[in-house]
Amino acid sequence: MSAQIIDGTKIAAQITESIRERIARMERAPGITVVLVGDDPASNVYTSMKEVNCRKAGMRSEKIALPAQTSEGELLAIVERLNKDDSVDGILVQLPLPKHISDSRIIRCIDPAKDVDGLHPINLGLTQLGKGTLVPCTPKGIMRLLTECRVPIAGVRAVVVGRSNIVGKPIAQLLLHQDATVTICHSKTRDLASVTRQADILIAAVGVPKLITADMIKPGATVIDVGVNRVPDPSAPKGYALVGDVDFEGARSVAGAITPVPGGVGPMTIAMLMENTLLAAEARK
Ligand code: NDP
Repeated sequence: MSAQIIDGTKIAAQITESIRERIARMERAPGITVVLVGDDPASNVYTSMKEVNCRKAGMRSEKIALPAQTSEGELLAIVERLNKDDSVDGILVQLPLPKHISDSRIIRCIDPAKDVDGLHPINLGLTQLGKGTLVPCTPKGIMRLLTECRVPIAGVRAVVVGRSNIVGKPIAQLLLHQDATVTICHSKTRDLASVTRQADILIAAVGVPKLITADMIKPGATVIDVGVNRVPDPSAPKGYALVGDVDFEGARSVAGAITPVPGGVGPMTIAMLMENTLLAAEARK
């Protein structure tokens, strides 16, 4: 058996097009400001991709790039200014921040109505209650992939590997709200394979290259690979390759459907960022 490849790039492009059409009918295009602190190459690529895609959808998009030595106070002042700026509908501060700045203090300072990443405690709380509008982008994108691919959720066994506040915990909540029976695994889980093998839907959000191998997957399962890991590859133009948390080649012979890396969850995260910015702009209007 060879798994259906879930094409996140294609589904994200369709969502972007429908957002573009909605924006074209608006009096004023929504505006997003992406803030990047430091020169982490991966963060730089992510923020540029977000900015470019938002522009493609017809949004006003601005990137503020700050030096790595920016103090927490300076960053808080910038967020406060953006909170008060009526032309800004969405604020995204790219994580992780340099070690001398507290991620959680900065996130708590963002106006929840402009928190298009959905990571402010108010938005995470509303997501947990099943009443969120600004739902975290990656989990929201995963749910949209499952819906678009008509993957049954109610009553099935879902296993989430990873318990971060950004991906693992919220995706587990969203699956639970749609009546899946959910298990969350983490680094202290004993005999991980015996748990993952029970999953009809398996979500890997770990950050360990190829942790999930074919023998850990139930035949026919839907496998969503959130991981983005850089591994050295002398034959690649940049000297590294991007791989997920799932051994894709092995897994595709067992799974029923699987997301590739890149081209699976990543583009959906950006599409959901745009959708959240649109929702934030509509709500603020
Ligand atoms: P975190 O580092 O915050 O969390 C990783 C989680 O994995 C933790 O809960 C950790 O457990 C668990 N874990 C680590 N090692 C193991 C193991 N051997 N077995 C089982 N569980 C383990 O990561 P994130 O959630 O932020 O990101 C996860 C991955 O997803 C990364 O590769 C990241 O780059 C990617 N990502 C991709 C996005 C996209 O749009 N495609 C968006 C966001 C993230 P414990 O809690 O016990 O430490």
